[in-house]
Amino acid sequence: MPMITDQSPIAFADALPDAVDVVVIGAGIVGTATAYWLAKRGQRVLLCDKGRVAGEQSSRNWGWVRQQGRDWAELPVMVESNRIWRTLAQETSEADLAFTQSGCVRLFDSEAERHKCEAWLDMARDHQLDTAMLTAQEVRARFPHVVGDWKGGMETPSDGWAEPFVAVPALARAARALGVRVIEACGAFDRGPHRADTRRLCGKFRHAGAVAAAARRWRVHGKQQRFCRTLSVAEIVPLFHPLYETD
Ligand SMILES: Cc1cc2nc3c(=O)[nH]c(=O)nc-3n(C[C@H](O)[C@H](O)[C@H](O)COP(=O)(O)OP(=O)(O)OC[C@H]3O[C@@H](n4cnc5c(N)ncnc54)[C@H](O)[C@@H]3O)c2cc1C
Repeated sequence: MPMITDQSPIAFADALPDAVDVVVIGAGIVGTATAYWLAKRGQRVLLCDKGRVAGEQSSRNWGWVRQQGRDWAELPVMVESNRIWRTLAQETSEADLAFTQSGCVRLFDSEAERHKCEAWLDMARDHQLDTAMLTAQEVRARFPHVVGDWKGGMETPSDGWAEPFVAVPALARAARALGVRVIEACGAFDRGPHRADTRRLCGKFRHAGAVAAAARRWRVHGKQQRFCRTLSVAEIVPLFHPLYETD
């Protein structure tokens, strides 16, 4: 399947709604998931992206839904995420939201690394994770083709992955099935080629209950705040946190 870019055919071109409760700016995994779950709670949502659904980072990652090795602050989020992914395909009837529970294995070749894994395992137990240590013998038996002098490993069988460039558009379709209007090539606060769409879109921001900013670089300060105030938007919710910024 070709990569999703600004040149990909437009797949989502719903009509602008007359009124919405929330405008979600940015249709990566964060914005799309936000739109889906808001709609499940009965909110009227518009999801817009200056490019394509999953046209940027959200279709270019490795797709891991990984709990193993996470920082303690991230772990509760990842446990919940894993729980959601396991039933998402069934819940939405979107086969493309399939989650492969492949497990995740980390091998180590030094005692220092073993101690790090064991320390993490203590924390995993507090979260009732299924993580377990593997002996060197088990590693050799399970992964005979992996070259190296491995002292052992750590495995979390409940970890898994989804195909990002397939899953995010599928979640957008599921959101649309719940009434979310999804519009591609429709940027917010955009001075670039989509300026005309932006002006059209801005009318819809007027009196929206909230604007959820899931556009990563669309930081909610300065000009953006003034922009939203002019439009009488009740609340601006930034959907990013430095903890989850990986690039
Ligand atoms: C190499 C690499 C590997 C990774 N592997 C994993 C992994 O295995 N598992 C994992 O969970 N995470 C992984 N990540 C992290 C993951 O990719 C990101 O956390 C995630 O994609 C962020 O999603 P997002 O929706 O916030 O951002 P994005 O996908 O960047 O979405 C933001 C959207 O906002 C749109 N936008 C921007 N400005 C505007 C505007 N003015 N108006 C309208 N729309 C706008 C953009 O077009 C874009 O589509 C990886 C990251 C990297 C770099």
